[in-house]
Amino acid sequence: MPKTVRVTIWNEGRHEKSHAEVAKVYPKGIHGALADGLSKQPGLKIVKTATLDEDPEHGLPEAVLARTDVLTWWGHMAHHEVSDVVVDRVHKHVLEGMGLIVLHSGHYSKIFRKLMGTGCGLKWREAAEQERLWVVRPGHPIVDGLGEYFELPHTEMYGEYFDIPQPDELVLISWFEGGDVFRSGCCWERGKGKVFYFRPGHETFPIYYDANVLKVIGNACRWAARGVGGAYSLECPNVTVPLNPIPKCK
Ligand code: ZN
Repeated sequence: MPKTVRVTIWNEGRHEKSHAEVAKVYPKGIHGALADGLSKQPGLKIVKTATLDEDPEHGLPEAVLARTDVLTWWGHMAHHEVSDVVVDRVHKHVLEGMGLIVLHSGHYSKIFRKLMGTGCGLKWREAAEQERLWVVRPGHPIVDGLGEYFELPHTEMYGEYFDIPQPDELVLISWFEGGDVFRSGCCWERGKGKVFYFRPGHETFPIYYDANVLKVIGNACRWAARGVGGAYSLECPNVTVPLNPIPKCK
């Protein structure tokens, strides 16, 4: 029996407060919709949902991250308000093995840019266009249960060039009605941690109720879960005593 994956869902949570149309689509917040959808999936346990305005520390103190196998991250209008202390803490946990799923406009979050080391910019257009997400890595656990592709009827377009390091694994590519394409499902390893970027999720569209979108996020949580054995050190020790004797040069 695989062990239960403990998931913490983090959402900026500002659009839902300031934009009535967003509150209508997500009356329980984007975090609430994700929690409802993911809690129904086998093997996932929601540790908690947290938002930017939660005290202390945006709802992500050490005690919460210590019991989190996978953290999901959605932000958009207030990336700059996320405390650097919290970003550094999340970063450390990722290196030590916590999985991180970065959603949609989280591409510009402090934590994603820190982990990627690139600008993470992209093209975008809000025209409610159709999106077709193609599976380009069949057999990968993140696309388990999907067909050749799935579609979302109305989305915000994200287009290339997406300024990210080459993904270790690319599992989904999007095509948009307007002609753009985008690397929509990207995997990296950072330290002992796994990072997955997943594109869908604009706040004015009901995308986090879509069965295929929830399937991908759930699969990604199981894929990225912490649990690889062995210590991971963030130190840089000077090993003066070698494992084997080193003969002196004559
Ligand atoms: Zn958006």
